[in-house]
This record gives sequence, C-alpha cells and structure tokens, in this order.
Amino acid sequence: MKTTQLLIPTQKEAPNDAKIISHQLMVRAGLISKLASGLYSYLPMGVRVLKKVESIIRQEMDKAGAQEVLMPVSQPAELWQASGRWDQYGPELLRFKDRHGRDFCMGPTHEEVITTLAAQYLRSYKQLPMNFYQIQTKFRDEIRPRFGVMRSREFIMKDAYSFHLDQDSLQQTYELMHQTYCNIFDRLGLDYRPVLADSGSIGGDSSHEFHVLADSGEDAICFSDESDYAANIEKVTFSKQEITCQAQADENQVLTKKKTSIEAVADFLNIDQSECIKTLIIKTENGFKALALRGDHELNEIKAHNLFGEFELASDDEIKSLDLKKGFIGIKGLSIDLIIDYSAAVLCDFVCGANEWDHHLTGVNWQGVEFSEADLRNAVEGDDSPDGKGKLVIKRGIEVGHIFQLGTKYSEAMKANVIGESGKAVTTTMGCYGIGVTRVIAAAIEQNYDDRGIIFPASIAPFQVVIVPINYNKSTRVKALADDLYQQCSEAGIEVLLDDRKERAGIMFADSELLGIPHRMVLSDTHADNGNVEYKARNNADKIEVRFEEALSFIQGRVS
Ligand code: ATP
Ligand code: MG
Repeated sequence: MKTTQLLIPTQKEAPNDAKIISHQLMVRAGLISKLASGLYSYLPMGVRVLKKVESIIRQEMDKAGAQEVLMPVSQPAELWQASGRWDQYGPELLRFKDRHGRDFCMGPTHEEVITTLAAQYLRSYKQLPMNFYQIQTKFRDEIRPRFGVMRSREFIMKDAYSFHLDQDSLQQTYELMHQTYCNIFDRLGLDYRPVLADSGSIGGDSSHEFHVLADSGEDAICFSDESDYAANIEKVTFSKQEITCQAQADENQVLTKKKTSIEAVADFLNIDQSECIKTLIIKTENGFKALALRGDHELNEIKAHNLFGEFELASDDEIKSLDLKKGFIGIKGLSIDLIIDYSAAVLCDFVCGANEWDHHLTGVNWQGVEFSEADLRNAVEGDDSPDGKGKLVIKRGIEVGHIFQLGTKYSEAMKANVIGESGKAVTTTMGCYGIGVTRVIAAAIEQNYDDRGIIFPASIAPFQVVIVPINYNKSTRVKALADDLYQQCSEAGIEVLLDDRKERAGIMFADSELLGIPHRMVLSDTHADNGNVEYKARNNADKIEVRFEEALSFIQGRVS
C-alpha cells in the first residue's frame, strides 16, 4: 500500500494521560485513538496489527481442534441469574434494560452463553470433548481504566470453553491449551512465563496465567531462583512452621507516643520491622476478626477472602467500638478471634501494640495467647520457594492469558448434561481459556521499543517492509525504481508500504521507525546512479547497500 492512501496520524507528543510507553507509542504511531475513558478506536495501522495477532491465535486454536463461534455482546440477565453471577458481579458488569424493561448486561466473559449453547446442542458423550472459541469484544466497567488498551473498558478477547465427560479429558485439553498458548506467545515474539494463578471470581480448581515480563506490569510474579516454580504473588502459599520459641516472655511496656505505624515503631526502637507484629481488624459476615502479621508482611486479600468470605478493614469508629486503640492494637486481651499468620507464629521476643494509647510492648511471646494460625500473607523477595527449592525472586508481569479448570460450576447451573455411556445423564466438566488480544499488542510494545519508537516483532508488524524513496515526487528515476521495487515486493507477497509522500527524508524515516516496521529500503538519486538500494533493519543500526537487481531476493531472505 502507499502512505498517501492511508490514515497514519503519527504525532511527536504523547497525550498527558499516557503513563506507560506502550500507550504513548500506540497513540504517537497512530495505531489507536481515544474516544472516552477506556474506549479506543483502532486506526488502519492498529487494525493491521490486531488482525495479525488474531490470525496467529486463530491458526493455533484451529490446530488444537477448537471450533470458532461468535456470541452476542449483549446477554440477557436470566442467564446470569441462573449462574448466580448477576448478584455476585459488582459494578464491572455493565447492566442495561431493553425497550421492554428486560434486564441485560454487556458480556465481560461468556461462560453463561456458551454453556447455554452446550446445554442446547450437546446431547451424547460421543460428542465430547468439544472446545469452542471466539475472538470478540468484551465490556468491563473497570474501576480504573488506564494504560491505553492494556486495561480498557472495551477490549477484544479470545475466549475458549471446553466441555468434557470427566476430569481426565479436561486435564488433557487443559494441557493442550497450555501448549497452544506457548505456541501462540512464541509466534507473537513475546518474552513470557506461564505461572500458577488464583482462579478468581470464575471459580474452579486449577489455573495458570501467562505473563509478559515488563516493569510496567500490574502483577507481581514470584519465581524460584533454583527451580521452575513460578506463581502470581496472589497464589504463593505457605505452610505452617514448627514453633521453636522457648524463651520466657520478658515483657516491657514502652512509651511510643504518636508512633502509629510499624515503620515508625521499628525506627524508634531501632529494630527490624520483621521483629514487630501488626494487628489488623477486619469486618466479616461473621463479625470482627483480628489478624496478626509480621510487621514487614502484607495481608493477601485473596487468602483472607478464601478464609473469611467478603470482608473489609474495620473503620476507625468500629475499632473504637471494640475498645481498641488504632495504631496501638496488640495481641493480648482481645475480645474478638485472633488469627495469626504462620510466619508471625514463629516469632519470639517481638514487639506489638500494648492496647493502650501511645504504648507498645517489647519482649512478647505467644505463650498464653489464644489464637488460630493461617496462611494470610503475600510472599516477599527471599522467601523460601513453596516447592522447597531455592528462594523467591519477584518480577513484574502483564497478564496476557489465563487458563482455568472450571469443573461443573456453570454446567450444573445451566444444566449442560449429556447422556453418558451407561445411559444416565452426566453433567459436563468445563475448562475456559482467555487471551487479551488487544492487551497483547500493548504488552509486545512494552518489551520492544527504543527512543525512536516501536520495534514490532516481525509476526505482528503492520507492514514487513517500508520503501522510502527520497524525492519520489521530483525525480523520475527514483520514482521508477521505487515503483518497480514496490511492485516486485507486492507480487512476491511481501507486505510492503511505499512512502510516496512529499515529505522530507527525515520525517519519513522517523515515521517508519515510530511505527516499528522491521525492514526499510531507501532509494535516492545517488542510489540510482550507482545501482544500489540501502537496507536497514529496525532493530539494527547497520545500513547495507544492496544491488538493485538483488533487492527482492535480499528482502525475501530477511522477511522469511
Ligand atoms: P486482570 O487481572 O488483568 O483484570 P482478569 O483476571 O480480569 O485480568 P480474565 O477474566 O482472565 O482477566 O480475562 C482474560 C484475559 O483478558 C486476561 O488475561 C487479559 O489479558 C485480558 N483482559 C482482562 N481485562 C482486560 C481489560 N480491562 N483490558 C484489556 N484486556 C483485559
Ligand atoms: Mg479483571
């Protein structure tokens, strides 16, 4: 194609709200345009990239025997009521009424719809297993849409759902999808890791996330420095440790006026935060609970949620009503249940609040305190790896894919049964597999850019080759050569862009670099004189002179 036929609105400046490099570059390169918060239009170059990502995903899903379907974005409330998610899902679910006053939502995901289809059309065990996928728009009214298409409200997802007679069959497809995802992310040219994950609001037993490693990632991923262990920080579990503390308590109440944070107390007493205990008060459906953690540890909300159900931190007034002093809450003499983290339980001779204003206790032990123990905290760098091999290292990741084993949660609710071998009805067992198609583009850019712009992996670049003729509109020789090379490339099936604008060379170079086109061929009058073309790869500073007659085969060698 020719540049003058295309809308490629490149710009020098990034918009103010673009905090991360992929967002800045996607706008500057003219791939996307913001319509409203979390809503983006894809411009022609963006669509070319998007189609390439979709095509790789489609090819690999087809190869794995999945079948493509396409389901509606709008979904009737009854389906969500049947699965129980109409009430569970918070304001992320965009709800609306049709002209008859019937409730609908914009699909944030499609378990309910696909399971309804399965209930309708899958009759016999002989049809199983089956895996359906679609590449389709999702809507989630994200509380904080940000980072451009990385966390938008409307985005494109590849979602797949498989149906099985039993767990063994699900396990096989799950492993096949795991491999398929690796193939997809390999072909997309991403540096990624599959990691153990929490299965979140969808529920189910087993789950992996695929993360692209990048400093801007919103997730923390824990890796063992000695084994293959990798898990989202949410999912790193710890076991109970043996309590070896023998020391007799030697408690002292010390004045810690206005020292209400662990940091301030540790500084004041000149000790490490890990020698302190902090006590959090939470409000659960079963009343208030006190949770004690080591001072340097953070509460893992998912673990707390799994243990206590819906909960929130108690308010200042609620803390007061329990006769507790915020900033000085301890572990002794509490009127509510005390649950302590495994790594708090093994502390000896520690510091905690004195349950008196402006006082803490030193030299405290757990002896005589009533408590139960649980795994409550997030992992920190240097923790022992849960597989017993090595220490944990923490890196940032962008979640681009997620695979779950769902079990029968939806198939039971939506009555997706088949007649089993014995003639009896069997509830199907399900898996589901998502890829954030639009997020993949942003993630690829986070890993591939320099100060001139995007360096697209070859498999998803909007064009493979750009021809930049200097003085195309003035020099008939340059024009003839450029048109000839353009035609040769096009006929050879190479995706080539001819920059036929009346622009200065510097602008044309800058635009093609900003857009991240992997290969560039430059033609000028000097080249016409000596019969050469200048070649440069986007990811390499070297320029190579190639004979014009050999230009096509040279470029074919580079793009293949
Ligand atoms: P996150 O934790 O990032 O919100 P999620 O766990 O809600 O993701 P899933 O429900 O598993 O995501 O959706 C499948 C995939 O869709 C994710 O792995 C991610 O790549 C993508 N995705 C989810 N939410 C968004 C969003 N708001 N914008 C763009 N892509 C998204
Ligand atoms: Mg989410």
